[in-house]
Order: sequence, then C-alpha cells, then structure tokens
Amino acid sequence: MGKVTGFMEFDREQAPHRDPVERTLDFKEIYTDHDQARLATQGARCMDCGVPFCQSNDGCPIHNLIPEWNDLVYRDQWREALDRLHKTNNFPEFTGRVCPAPCEGSCVLGITDPAVTIKNIEMAIIDRGFAEGWVIANPPSERTGKKIAVVGSGPAGLAAADQLNKAGHTVTVYERADRIGGLLMYGIPNMKLDKTEVVDRRVELLRKEGVVFETGAHIADGNDGTVDTRRLYDESDAVLLATGATVPRDLPIPGRELPGVHFAMEYLTANTKSLLDSNLSDGEYISAKDKDVIVIGGGDTGTDCIGTALRHGCRSLVNFELFPQPPTDRAADNPWPTWPRIFRTDYGHQEAAARFNDDPRVYAISSTEFVAGDDGRLCGIRTVDVELKDGKFENIEGSEREWKASLVLLAMGFLGPEHPISDALGVEYDPRSNYQAEYGAYQTSVPKVFAAGDCRRGQSLVVRAINEGREAAREIDRFLMGSSLLP
Ligand SMILES: Cc1cc2nc3c(=O)[nH]c(=O)nc-3n(C[C@H](O)[C@H](O)[C@H](O)COP(=O)(O)OP(=O)(O)OC[C@H]3O[C@@H](n4cnc5c(N)ncnc54)[C@H](O)[C@@H]3O)c2cc1C
Ligand code: SF4
Repeated sequence: MGKVTGFMEFDREQAPHRDPVERTLDFKEIYTDHDQARLATQGARCMDCGVPFCQSNDGCPIHNLIPEWNDLVYRDQWREALDRLHKTNNFPEFTGRVCPAPCEGSCVLGITDPAVTIKNIEMAIIDRGFAEGWVIANPPSERTGKKIAVVGSGPAGLAAADQLNKAGHTVTVYERADRIGGLLMYGIPNMKLDKTEVVDRRVELLRKEGVVFETGAHIADGNDGTVDTRRLYDESDAVLLATGATVPRDLPIPGRELPGVHFAMEYLTANTKSLLDSNLSDGEYISAKDKDVIVIGGGDTGTDCIGTALRHGCRSLVNFELFPQPPTDRAADNPWPTWPRIFRTDYGHQEAAARFNDDPRVYAISSTEFVAGDDGRLCGIRTVDVELKDGKFENIEGSEREWKASLVLLAMGFLGPEHPISDALGVEYDPRSNYQAEYGAYQTSVPKVFAAGDCRRGQSLVVRAINEGREAAREIDRFLMGSSLLP
C-alpha cells in the first residue's frame, strides 16, 4: 500500500482535458500531459484493499493488477508498474484513453469518497513506457508451425493475435478495411484515440513481433470480390472470428430515405479516413459545417458524433435520447460495486455546452418522422415526448414538436454481426443473431472455428473485447497443443 493514510489526506484530482472550446478547433487528442507528481498522490489514495473490487468481475474485465501499479506509481517505480500492467492488458494505451473505467465504479474507496483515478494512472504508465523506450518488440523464440487466421482487426482480434503469436503460432489477421484497428481505427474518433501515434504504433509492434496483417481482405462467401472463408478454413489450423457487431439499428420512420439522414458509422468512418488520408482536404466525408445537426441516440457513438460535428463547425446541435435522464446518484437498485448508471457528462457534451451554452441532450423523446424541404432534402424532424410505464414507452399526448435539422445521425446501437462469413462456414447463432459460442470456451458450432468480441457477445466495450481475445487465444492454443500456458 502506497501511503497508509493517503485516502484520508488527499482528494481525487483527475487529469484535466484540453479547453473544451479550443480543442474543437482540431482533431488532436483531448488529453493534457501527465503530471507525475499528481499521479503519485492519486496512487497514494489506493487502500490496497484485502478484496480489491476494482479488479473483480464487476470492476476490470481483464483483472488488471490495479492496487499493485497504484503502489508502484506512488513509489516512483514506473517501469515495474508497466510490467505489471502488461501482464493482464495487451493494449493499456487504448483502455487508458477510451475505457469508461468500470474499475472506478467498483473501487472500494468509492463507497465513501470519490474513487481512485485508476484510468489516469493506467494511461500515464503506458505513455511513459513508450516515451522511455521500454515497450519494444519481443518476438517468440520458437514457432509451433500452426497457422491461425484471425478475421477482424479490432481489439478482440488484435489481443488474440498478440497472445497466439506469443505462444509461437503463425498468425495472420484479415481486415476488410484499408487500415488495421477495427473500431479503434474507424469508430472511436481521433480526438479520443490518436490513430497514427497510438493505434498504428501498437500495430507496428505486433508486426515486428511476427503477426501478419492483410488489409482489404473481405472474408465471406467468395463472391463479389470477397475471399472465400472456406478456403481460409481449409488452409488454417484454427480460425477466429472477431468481426465485431457491425449491423446498425435503423429508424424506419417516414422520410428515412431523405438525403441528410445517415448512420453514425457512415459519418464517423468517412471522417477518420479523410482525416488520415488528406487532413479532410479530399472532401470525402459527410460535413456538418453550418448544418443543424441532430444526433439520435446517446452512448459513446452519439457522443463521438457530437464531438465530430462540433469540429466540422455545425450551426446547432441536439442529441435525442429515448430513455429518461438518469439520476445524479446511484438508485437503490444500482448499488456499489455495480456499474453506476448515473448522469454523466462526456467530452462531447462538455464541448457542446461550451460552444452553445447549453447541454445538447434531450431525454424521453421519440422521433416520428423526418421532414423534407422543397429541395427534397431533410429539413426537420418531428418528435413526441414519451414516458416509461411498466417497461414500455408511451407517447405523451400534445407533446408533439418539430425540430430544424439538415443532418441527422443515427446512433442507436448495433444489432449484431454480419452473416455472410458465418453462413458460408455453417456457424450457428444465438437468439440475438450473434455467433453462438459459449463465454470461456469461444468454440462455435463448427470445429476449429472460434468467435470472440462483439460478434459473439454483442456491442460492448474495448476492454471486454480485449478480454475475449485473450481468453479465446488461450482456448485456441489449448485446442491446438492439448494444453496452454496462456492466461
Ligand atoms: C463510435 C463508437 C465509439 C465507441 N467508443 C467506445 C469507447 O469510448 N470505449 C469503449 O470501451 N468502447 C467503445 N466502443 C465499443 C468498442 O469500440 C467495441 O466494443 C470494440 O471495438 C469491439 O471490438 P471487436 O474486436 O469485437 O470488433 P471491432 O472493433 O468492431 O472490429 C471488427 C473488425 O472486423 C472487420 N470485419 C468485419 N467483418 C469482416 C469480414 N467479413 N472480413 C474481414 N474483416 C471483417 C471490421 O471491418 C472491423 O475492423 C465504441 C463503439 C463505437 C461504434
Ligand atoms: S478498490 Fe480502489 S482503493 Fe481498493 S485496491 Fe482497488 S483502486 Fe485501491
């Protein structure tokens, strides 16, 4: 334990983000430099609990050794802290930036005081590790001769590839996009997770360690320019499907076909690609400049649309959420150490409030129709307020409204994975259309085909995808070798 009385002496102090107005003028990361003295003080707040709930199932899905590295940071032993961090997390530079930090929701200190700033400490450890040159390629000394195909290069596929490569297998990651990273690359925007300095840096390390990456490789039934998944199956000793939950939930109301209504991912993906290809000078993206933007759906995707639209220079911005506004404190049915379902202000909301002097969120509202202007393009949206009664939404009579909108972004979640690749293999589905494979085993209904991440569990979090990738790697290693030393 860092300092025995630290939790009584020091208050929680989070690392500040850049000024919310200033940062919307660029797509650079929102974070500021790490203040190591402050982080040491925050590490001193950790109580080294007998039962560290921060790293339990409710806290950290990959069971990061949080109290150990809190203590090491307090003692200025950063390199040792880095070694501890890498024992459980292949990519702390991703989770340190984008994880909602369920560990902090489960922190024991959080029962009486604000939790330890675990996420800030994690990010500072790995950033210092890279800055000091401590993170270097470490290829395996021997190869097993086993060939594994990983389809999908998001956090699940990358974590699995890293683990399987460490075990000496020959791993090829197939990705249909032109860049590696899944939603780390073409979902989460650059201001939250830098693509070249952070995502590509890790991909290069994996490449140096021996992982092979093939981009532009769409694996499906072999038609329309896709690679036949059965060929991959025949040529590999095992196949891991890590294809994500890419089918978006639609809003089939009148006017859905109008120009100006887009899925969030059409907007976010094109923006990042254009940003990386040409710093947005090629114009190959949907611009929100001078538009009245309405984002439908809260959550991370909605927040990222807000942040991106602000950076484009939108004229106005509103964010609809069907559910009522959450409470500011935990409700009685949401006790510690479960994830606190409370009202939060994320980076995009903060930026919108700073730009327009108002929080952009409108709760308990349902969209009923997209309205066309004389030019046939979207010009507005009609809504009705709703209330939740016995688990069902009911419209409130007389609450109908019409809003001005020239760009609507649908960010209402995802229905599950696409099926051409799995149909071609004969993989069975669970009732929610995900690839059927039990948690912990990851084996699908087809021999030597495994599944991990959002394609198996549905849309979730980066840290859960890393967890599934790691565990699936262990199961594949066991399947191939009879036993496994992978965690
Ligand atoms: C906009 C957005 C913001 C998010 N923000 C956060 C956040 O801040 N924090 C957080 O923890 N989580 C966040 N999430 C969720 C998180 O990104 C996902 O849970 C996570 O990336 C899932 O990882 P995965 O590896 O299972 O799949 P993905 O990251 O979705 O990767 C799947 C990859 O497979 C590829 N692929 C699919 N089919 C094929 C095929 N047939 N052939 C070849 N390649 C294929 C896809 O192109 C994709 O690159 C966000 C999600 C979105 C959409
Ligand atoms: S639960 Fe909180 S106080 Fe306890 S060990 Fe984990 S981080 Fe430290």
